[in-house]
Order: sequence, then structure tokens, then C-alpha cells
Amino acid sequence: MTLAPSPDLWKGRRVSVIGAARSGLAAARLLSGVGAEVFVSDAGSDDGVAARLRCWQHELGGHTDRVWHGRELVVTSPGVPWDAPVLERARAHGVEVIAELELAWRFSSAHVIAITGSNGKSTTTAWLAEVLTRAGFDARVGGNIGVPLSDVGPSAPRDAVLVVEVSSYQLEGIDTFRPRVGMILNITPDHLERHRDLELYGAAKARIFENIGPRDIVVLNHLDPRTRMLGAQVEPDLIRWVGAAPGAWVENGMIWAGRGDAPVALIPVEQLSLSGAHNVENALAVVAGVVSLMEVLGRALPIEAIGEGLRGFSALPHRQETVSIIDDVHYINDSKATNVDSTRLALESYDRGVIWIAGGLDKGSGLEPLVQAARPRVRKALLIGQAAKRFELALSDAVSTECCEDLATAVILAREISQAGDVVLFSPACASFDQYQNFEKRGEAFRRLVTGGSA
Ligand code: ADP
Repeated sequence: MTLAPSPDLWKGRRVSVIGAARSGLAAARLLSGVGAEVFVSDAGSDDGVAARLRCWQHELGGHTDRVWHGRELVVTSPGVPWDAPVLERARAHGVEVIAELELAWRFSSAHVIAITGSNGKSTTTAWLAEVLTRAGFDARVGGNIGVPLSDVGPSAPRDAVLVVEVSSYQLEGIDTFRPRVGMILNITPDHLERHRDLELYGAAKARIFENIGPRDIVVLNHLDPRTRMLGAQVEPDLIRWVGAAPGAWVENGMIWAGRGDAPVALIPVEQLSLSGAHNVENALAVVAGVVSLMEVLGRALPIEAIGEGLRGFSALPHRQETVSIIDDVHYINDSKATNVDSTRLALESYDRGVIWIAGGLDKGSGLEPLVQAARPRVRKALLIGQAAKRFELALSDAVSTECCEDLATAVILAREISQAGDVVLFSPACASFDQYQNFEKRGEAFRRLVTGGSA
């Protein structure tokens, strides 16, 4: 826990925020709220950005040296590369550069449990918060899940629990960030366009525990080899595992928690509210998170609340969400699947009869896992966006493919070729930014196209 800095400390301080998406705007609001003199810089130049920034001094259409010149702090949004030339120049001139996460952390005094990983972050974050709420905690979610920590952290009381979803981009820009419980769910290829290779990407994730203290806990996934290996970097007593003791694991169809010598049986796996092997892992992560937080706070394990929360949690939208069943064809919105691994899992949830819509902004990952997963079950792959051609090249030997102009065309085609019992799965394995503002907007467009509204 840090002590929230006194607002007087910030009065008149000249700071800047680079990137005016959700987190950047939240940082700007936080800083101007405590009297700092804020300058915001954004690469965009449309009217919407200009309108959002009208209360601050700002520049649009790119980042000039005004970002750092005469400023003592630069706060970055996750979308701005950590090695952007303007940030390198800021550092070279002695100006501190931090991520929005770090800023929000400096203003927060509640207990923080932070969750990172390639996949399952949002589900685990929301699920964990639900269990904690059922156990009587004042649990608040923030971070990468869509509510910037700058909006929720500073106002949360000291005894609240901030359940924070953290991306590797945000971890690149931390300095003192120190969650009482830091969790890494899994490390699979994603964002390699920014982190260059898997080792650097794993190293960025491992920063979640770089400031760990002797009474903090790190939760790692024993079932994921790359994450398990990170255990070598942490004092063994401070580790709790997903999939092994001490932590949370499955044995004889039951979910167990605690230490190997005094384990507690929670609920049968079949009673989990979310299906699929990946959600068993997410549930174990939730339990390991609760186990760890209770240890840190010196509280007993809320066994009943955990059981209720594991049985009662509803899936978040855009994650394998059934949006409609038309003529016995299930339409599934998995817009949140922005990488190969999450789409592979979605494909593997079905035996056959999948009309699969994929594509978007290509992240350049190897597509072999998708080829393997598609071969036995995909009847047709409808490919969209900037990635369409590369996906078609990779997939066309294994399944029938067709490049479509856009999502609307793909949905129309899917409806034409689907038969009773089929699944139309929109699981892009790509980022959304070539055609949409974010994965939510993309998923909403799919939902409207399926249910008859205009996109
Ligand atoms: P994140 O916030 O890390 O992107 P989400 O919980 O939003 O994760 O889920 C994103 C996608 O990943 C969904 O399509 C979901 O089906 C899939 N997914 C969820 N949990 C896992 C997991 N533990 N391992 C792999 N894929 C997962």
C-alpha cells in the first residue's frame, strides 16, 4: 500500500499525458483534479479527440517535444510504445516517464490484487471481484478491463480491494507498483509486434512481482510451462499455484484450495458456471487469488462465498457469447479473442459444423495452431480485414476459405451457407483496430448484424 500523495504536492506541477484513449483521459482528469497543469498529446486528429481534450492544453496529430519540454512528469497510455522517440527524448532530458497504472497506484491506498497474462485476464478479474464481493469485501475492478485504475483507485477507501487487470504494456511503465497479490495466468504468443520476442514479453509480465515484499504473494500457473518457469525468480514461500498446492487445484473432479497438508474441498468442477478447460484454469486462478489475499490480510478463507461465486458468475460479453440462435444455428460472438491461442480454444469447443469468421488487424503470430484446430471442425472460414490474405494462405490447404469485404458480408454469407446444427463463430484471432475502435465495438457490430440491426 502506498499513501495517497497530498493534493498540495501536485498543485501547479507541470505534467503531460501522452495518448488520449480511456486511460490517458482518466490520468488527465486525476492530475487536473489535484491542481496539476496538464498538457495532453494525441496522435489522432479527428473532431472526437479534439472535443474530448478541450479542457486541457493539448496537441493533436502527433507527439512533439512539447510533451516533455518544461514538464517534470510524462504519463503514458498503454497504446503508446514505451520506446517511442518522444519518450526516449523525455528520458534523455531527465523527465520521469511512467504508465497510467503507476500514476493511479501512487494515488491509491486500498489493497491491490493485480492480474496479468495473455488470456483470461478480464474473466478472472471480474470473477475474482464477484467472489470477494460475495465474501463481504468492498471489491472494485479497474485497469485494462475498461475502467482505468485512475478512475477507481484514488477514490477507493483503504480497506477496499482493487482487483486490477494489468496488461504487459502497462507493466512496461511501472516503477514502484507493488500489488499485495500479483498473478500471472499464462504466457502465450501475443503482442510480439511490440515486445519483439516471447522472452521479452514474459519479462514484461514478470514485472508484476518486481517490487514484491516479504509478506506479499505471487500466484503463478503451474499448468502453463512458461509461467511455471517464472517461479524460479520468486522466493518459493511467496508462491501460490494455479493447478498445484499450495494454491488451488483439481483432484477427483473437485476444486481444492490451500496447502497440501490441510486442503479444503470447494465445489465439483462440473458445477462451475463457465464451461471449457480454460475456464477451469480461470476458476482455479480465482480461488488461488482469494487464498492469497486472505493470507496477506490474515483472514479465514470464505469457503461459502467462494462456492457461490464459482457457481454463480456469468460470462462477460464478447467472450464466446451466444448472441442468437436462428434456424437452429448458434451465432457466437468471441470478439475478445484477439490472439491465436484464445481463438484456438474457442474452435476446440466445437466438434464440427463451424462456420468461422476470423481476421482483423494481423499481429503476425504463427497460425499453425489454428490450422490444426480448424481442420476437423470448420466447414468454411470467412476471412476479413487486413489479415485476410495471410490467413487464407495458411488455412486454405486445411479448410474451405473465402475472403470477404467486411464483417457484414461475412455474416450474410455465413447465414446463407449454414445448416441446422451449425455454429457461426466470430472469433477473429486478430486485433480490431483496422476497422473498429476496439473489440467491444466489433462485437456489438457482429451482434447487430446477426440480430438484424444495422452495423
Ligand atoms: P483477456 O482479458 O486476457 O483478453 P478474457 O477473459 O477477456 O481475457 O478472454 C479473452 C479470450 O480468451 C476469450 O475469447 C476467451 O474465450 C479466451 N480465454 C479465456 N480464458 C482463457 C485462458 N485461461 N486461456 C486461454 N484462453 C482463454
